[in-house]
Amino acid sequence: LSERLGGIFDGLTGRGALSEKDVNAALREIRVALLEADVALPVVKDFIDGVRNRAVGEEVIRSVKPGQQVIKIVYDALVDMLGGEEADTSLRIDSPPAIIMMAGLQGSGKTTTTGKLAKRLSEKDRKRVLLASLDTRRPAAMEQLAILADQCNENVSALPIIEGQLPADIARRALNAAKISGYDVLILDTAGRTTIDEQMMNEVAEIADIATPSETLLVADALTGQDAVETASRFHARLPLTGLVLTRMDGDGRGGAALSMRAVTGLPIKFMGVGEKLDGLDAFDAKRVAGRILGQGDIVSLVEKAAEQMDAEKAERMAEKLRKGEFDLEDMAEQFRQMQRMGGLGGLMGMLPGARKAKAAMESANLDDNVLKRQEAIILSMTRAERRKPAILNASRRKRIAAGAGVTVQEVNKVLKMHQQMAGMMKKMRTKGGMKNMMNMAQ
Ligand code: GDP
Ligand code: MG
Repeated sequence: LSERLGGIFDGLTGRGALSEKDVNAALREIRVALLEADVALPVVKDFIDGVRNRAVGEEVIRSVKPGQQVIKIVYDALVDMLGGEEADTSLRIDSPPAIIMMAGLQGSGKTTTTGKLAKRLSEKDRKRVLLASLDTRRPAAMEQLAILADQCNENVSALPIIEGQLPADIARRALNAAKISGYDVLILDTAGRTTIDEQMMNEVAEIADIATPSETLLVADALTGQDAVETASRFHARLPLTGLVLTRMDGDGRGGAALSMRAVTGLPIKFMGVGEKLDGLDAFDAKRVAGRILGQGDIVSLVEKAAEQMDAEKAERMAEKLRKGEFDLEDMAEQFRQMQRMGGLGGLMGMLPGARKAKAAMESANLDDNVLKRQEAIILSMTRAERRKPAILNASRRKRIAAGAGVTVQEVNKVLKMHQQMAGMMKKMRTKGGMKNMMNMAQ
């Protein structure tokens, strides 16, 4: 794929504009890449349509190659769709005994994941964990779970095996045992089938009714590919699922099932299995998986570089406005955002030779990042007209803005004063010329 994407870059280099044609050309390749990553066909289609809408309207940034811009949009959309950068992967296990139920096809990794979760919860969260196997079909299933419990530590136990009990009865017994013995968490490991059938679904649904778990996790093999959609939607229709676990993410597959299952269920992917051993369980990481689905190892650095270039481009456009003497409050807000991105005052302003005085003024105003955010909030409470033409800000307008931003009128005045200082300073630099060069140096 990297070669293919490289090809897109070459094809699009230097054309300067993100036309619908460029976007479509890139998206045709992305489409193939997603299918190769085993994302289900209908999901690919929806995703591509969404990205096309997002991309074609997008403002073109001169210093970024159109292909890079498309990749960034695709990558961002993937991360979003997988749950976002700060996806919540925590488990709801507050009221003891909290019940976690594992569901999924046979061989998907339920029992292994049960062991991994037990280890994690007992070690990281200091919970006492009881494991119960409700798999009465596979002869060795219960022993398998007991062995996993032994491999953990003294805070993890398996429910003793009683021959001949039905899954529902084992579930009741496990609930009682967890309550009586004061366990924090009970994990119910259910039986699976190789294919979904009504009897299996009835069984897990009955267990869910009995146990009313606070977490019902669908465990799925990341290598299932196109079947992922079918599996996810069938389980989702019958069980009160709360999250997904994708196993075998250590395998060769590119993990397209993650996208498919997310798209079909809308459920958070909480964990991914990355090995057969008990410590092979990671919190789900949308960025990592998005990079992998795109199949380009260094996609992230590529994207970040593109984002930097976008910032640089914005700085240049700013310089253009400054040359024309048009530094309004919107520009100042943008400066504040840039400063926050570029590491506060040490960033842009600090790199401009002529800006030392203004920098000192801002420093004396204690302009740390929190303050920058507040200043930005003040500017956002203004109308567009006010931002463009600060001169119209009379006392009553200032009062309204202060109320809107939840600050005092003095703070609003401070922002306006700072704007005057900055605009004045910019004007001076303009007359000396070379602002553009300075901005370039700042990159
Ligand atoms: P179950 O039938 O759903 O309970 O599946 P099991 O937990 O018994 O797992 C089936 C097989 O998959 C076992 O050989 C596991 O060792 C293996 N397995 C489970 N999770 C992972 C994983 O994240 N990575 C790898 N490589 N193997 C796994
Ligand atoms: Mg099992």
